[in-house]
Amino acid sequence: MAGSADFDLYRPSEEHDMLRETVRSLAEAKIEPFAAAVDEEARFPQEALDALVASDLHAVHVPETYGGAGADALATVIVIEEVARVCASSSLIPAVNKLGSLPVILSGSEELKKKYLGPLAKGDAMFSYCLSEPDAGSDAAGMKTKAVRDGDFYVLNGVKRWITNAGVSEYYTVMAVTDPSMRSKGISAFVVEKSDPGVSFGAPEKKLGIKGSPTREVYLDNVRIPADRMIGAEGTGFATAMKTLDHTRITIAAQALGIAQGALDYAKGYVKERKQFGKPIADFQGIQFMLADMAMKIEAARQLTYAAAAKSERGDADLTFQGAAAKCFASDVAMEVTTDAVQLLGGYGYTRDYPVERMMRDAKITQIYEGTNQVQRIVMARNLP
Ligand SMILES: Cc1cc2nc3c(=O)[nH]c(=O)nc-3n(C[C@H](O)[C@H](O)[C@H](O)COP(=O)(O)OP(=O)(O)OC[C@H]3O[C@@H](n4cnc5c(N)ncnc54)[C@H](O)[C@@H]3O)c2cc1C
Repeated sequence: MAGSADFDLYRPSEEHDMLRETVRSLAEAKIEPFAAAVDEEARFPQEALDALVASDLHAVHVPETYGGAGADALATVIVIEEVARVCASSSLIPAVNKLGSLPVILSGSEELKKKYLGPLAKGDAMFSYCLSEPDAGSDAAGMKTKAVRDGDFYVLNGVKRWITNAGVSEYYTVMAVTDPSMRSKGISAFVVEKSDPGVSFGAPEKKLGIKGSPTREVYLDNVRIPADRMIGAEGTGFATAMKTLDHTRITIAAQALGIAQGALDYAKGYVKERKQFGKPIADFQGIQFMLADMAMKIEAARQLTYAAAAKSERGDADLTFQGAAAKCFASDVAMEVTTDAVQLLGGYGYTRDYPVERMMRDAKITQIYEGTNQVQRIVMARNLP
């Protein structure tokens, strides 16, 4: 598996290219065949999880010290991109495993790392990330979930909303208020386990896209957990949550990039087969220009995303800007490119007999989660290079 600092700013190394080939063939053989059914039936892509775990691609970011593959940020991006190219829902397995566990990797104690990263690396457990609440989305610091100290324990109460892979994951990084007078500096992060008494889940949301990825509320009803499950010091949870997003927005950019590439690849093949006016529609310059624009935008998004991944790996000072820019740009590109792919297939593109309408529905979420693209612009404006 590709290790850190073995890639230059924009160009993946030979090792990264080999990783892409491996993931692409696995995704095409074992994930793509189920993508339409997973969407149609709105069911968890168990086949994808099994295939990813069998090839050790479900949580490649976990450091080798904790039993993981120790992939760098660009390698993780490539895994997510290639899985998203065939099934966006399935790409949320490696993406959210990173999102959920990165707070532990960035700020957790050695004990927490050993306890929770090992099972994640082995494929015995998945990790989710619980920041959002019904009344605290873009304004995440306005959360109401509370954690109250009681001797050697904390007792958590509240509702987390929109939690990806909730119910399937064993572990949850939960942000909760420990000092209401301090706003964001009074928020702490904890690891909560699915089996902790008082943890339960809402019904799966009925969504426009990424239907194979369960999104549910997480209810915390007097959940009593040992105090050593706190990630970092009291009051540092919000900072950890934001630092996490600096790195993981790049994985959403990767997901968007993969969805867009999948749509372009499908449309490219289709226009060569489809004949109108006595010739393949690919012969019309109007069609060629659309494909050229799609490919140009994807390449620009890819360069921005890979550069951001390199910055994430190195921990560059301008990572916050770059992560937000990559996520915002790549997700807007994904929306445009998938919409154009539907257009290129005409009426057929508008039906579920072809994958591009699914890709268009899936692309939309990348403009919304891990901070909407309005929020990304706020983040960029505050951190202008
Ligand atoms: C499928 C799905 C999966 C998700 N997974 C997770 C997860 O795993 N964990 C998690 O914690 N959260 C998750 N989320 C939550 C997601 O991050 C939030 O939905 C998102 O941050 C927006 O919050 P909101 O939905 O409350 O919208 P709101 O904050 O209510 O925003 C509504 C609109 O107002 C705009 N807006 C808000 N404030 C401003 C402002 N200051 N300036 C300009 N415009 C503004 C927004 O951009 C948006 O267009 C998920 C959401 C979805 C839909």
